[in-house]
Amino acid sequence: MSQPLPIPPLLASVSDVAAELDSRVDLKSMTREELSAWVREELGESRFRGDQIFQWLHQKRAREVGAMTNLSKKLRTRLEGTARVGGLALEDVKTAADGTRKLLFRTAAGDRLESVLIPMEDRITQCVSSQIGCKIGCRFCLTARMPMRRNLSAAEIVDQVLWAQEVLGTGTDEGERVTNIVYMGMGEPLDNYDNVVKSLRILMDEHGANFSSRRITVSTSGVVPKIARLGHDVPVNLAVSLNASYDAQRTSVIPINKVWDIDQLVAALRAFPLPPRRRITVEYVMLAGVNDTREDARRLVKLLTGVRCKVNLIPFNPWPGAPYARPTNDAVEAFGAVLKDADYTVTIRYSKGEDIGAACGQLDGDQV
Ligand code: SAH
Ligand code: SF4
Repeated sequence: MSQPLPIPPLLASVSDVAAELDSRVDLKSMTREELSAWVREELGESRFRGDQIFQWLHQKRAREVGAMTNLSKKLRTRLEGTARVGGLALEDVKTAADGTRKLLFRTAAGDRLESVLIPMEDRITQCVSSQIGCKIGCRFCLTARMPMRRNLSAAEIVDQVLWAQEVLGTGTDEGERVTNIVYMGMGEPLDNYDNVVKSLRILMDEHGANFSSRRITVSTSGVVPKIARLGHDVPVNLAVSLNASYDAQRTSVIPINKVWDIDQLVAALRAFPLPPRRRITVEYVMLAGVNDTREDARRLVKLLTGVRCKVNLIPFNPWPGAPYARPTNDAVEAFGAVLKDADYTVTIRYSKGEDIGAACGQLDGDQV
């Protein structure tokens, strides 16, 4: 597919200012209900019009009001006066040796962010970003090294998926498509709660991309008060980055543990309103010599008693200047064996897309 041309610096700064000053409401950031209410109140149009506009945006992937050809010219002109279609420009697509693709985006104001497409046997999982930067500051994560710029809007989160469908060629008979979405890219999703929940509702809408809640997972570093809220607001899968087996260890790698410690976090997991037959994913980044012993694994087993979960071990993905190293495969296997003996389902996430900086914890908007 054709790529957007790079914007020359002077024009970029002019367009940045224009983007920041554009106070028109963003149609793509609205859920279908919000859009219908807005269309009724602002334009005096029926709910049906709201549905039509929603379909244009989220099924036909219209990027401007002018493309919505079954709306009258008059309505389109009125829409353009009060509303805009938010979203992202796709700047580049990089493909790794193992087939993983990294999509590099640019916001209207010129910030860059990434999304990763990971092919697996019968599915394609997309890892989406929720913020530009992240203020949680985990010591093993490259995203934490870039300045926290801002939350992404719902449109900017949803657009990562719409662009991916475009890149994969949905719409053609043989086209592949995104089958699963994980909120594990740049940013802490529960730190951008409202926009993330909106994006989930939009992506799950039957008049839009129509993703099943079973195929979407939100990962958090442990923003405890928002965990219960999420469970009540949208029935998506939850993943939690536990990454340690006792408090001092966890605080040394994830500073947020000082605010909500392991006990509080695990209590939130026990209370999480899990739909039947679902399990929480406990993520555990393995750092050599820090949290990777059999003793850590035994402590983890104890901690997770009574939590309906499976464990995902993620051997650390190094980046230049990182203060940690990846454990040996033997250490990872031995750790996993302790968990398996205690009847936990364990998966090991050997990294994908490392050669293009697309593996977990390697996303930085291609700035390093
Ligand atoms: N902010 C959320 C989601 C994004 S991070 C969270 O922290 O859960 C997604 C996953 O990648 C988390 O489990 C995180 O612990 C892990 N991760 C971050 N940096 C990593 C690295 N360098 N190597 C391996 N995993 C990493
Ligand atoms: Fe933020 Fe998650 Fe990276 Fe921690 S691991 S800094 S919460 S993106």
